[in-house]
Amino acid sequence: MTISVAVLGAGIMGAGMARSLARAGHRVTVWNRSPGKAAALAGDGITVATDAAEAVRGASVVLTMLFDADSVAEVMAKALPVLDEGAVWAQTSTVGLDGTARLAALAKEHGVAFVDAPVLGTRKPAEDGALTVLAAGPEDVRAAVAPAFDAIGSRTVWVGAEPGDGHKLKLAANAWVLSVVAGTAQSITLARDLGLDPQVFLDTIAGGPLDSPYAQLKGAAMIAGEYPPSFALDGAVKDSGLIADALRSAGTDGRMMAALHAVFADASAAGHANDDMAAVAETFRRH
Ligand code: NAP
Repeated sequence: MTISVAVLGAGIMGAGMARSLARAGHRVTVWNRSPGKAAALAGDGITVATDAAEAVRGASVVLTMLFDADSVAEVMAKALPVLDEGAVWAQTSTVGLDGTARLAALAKEHGVAFVDAPVLGTRKPAEDGALTVLAAGPEDVRAAVAPAFDAIGSRTVWVGAEPGDGHKLKLAANAWVLSVVAGTAQSITLARDLGLDPQVFLDTIAGGPLDSPYAQLKGAAMIAGEYPPSFALDGAVKDSGLIADALRSAGTDGRMMAALHAVFADASAAGHANDDMAAVAETFRRH
């Protein structure tokens, strides 16, 4: 089934998702605050809108893929009043539990159906339509968003019916992701500081039960000292803060995430905010 989708946000993730939607045959309109990133998609059969309100007119599904809850709220305040009757808002940015509650309330004020739909996967899965969508929303809107989710992802996990149910799983998964990245940085730097070739660490865990493709991928970037962004460090700072909030509200011990937040924030302040989060290795290197 072909549907009309508006994608608000053409950053690393939004651009890949818009291309995946167009490749699946959907009518896609994209808007981005900095016009150049949206304009780059025009050659891929995607319509480029000059503002968010123009982008959402005629869309049956609106996907938001912006940095945080504030940017999503700011943009949707302009788009919600002009949404078509029956359009569904699928909110895919990582905004945390409080942020999701705030955005769901905004949708409700405008009588718009809201699906909490954060995603797992980074630049390449977004480009390939191979993300995992962690969705939560009422049964009666799931069929409307399914064609869009099938285009951006290889799997949709319906976690629950309430806004925030998708984000609960996303925050648990991202806690793992951030732990693996910082843990890899620590082991690589420790091996180097003890006088070993850090590649020996990655080669030793390769293919065994301790291995992880993510550790190999990020570890290779750390050893090379090259950090083209798939998931920028400022996003890791944001997400570790959102996870810390969730740990606090759940009553779970937050000491480990507090330490991770501190090292990601340190690397960001040292000039790596727009580098890949693998640049957290630079923080370990400096101490
Ligand atoms: P990104 O490349 O930095 O893109 C961020 C987007 O947000 C850009 O379109 C940016 O517009 C827009 N934006 C920021 N502040 C804004 C504001 N005040 N008003 C309007 N637009 C604003 O980040 P990304 O990696 O695509 O991530 C997007 C979201 O997905 C984040 O919530 C992130 O945590 C989440 N996520 C990322 C990954 C990943 O691996 N990258 C994976 C899963 C989820 P400009 O271009 O004008 O700056």
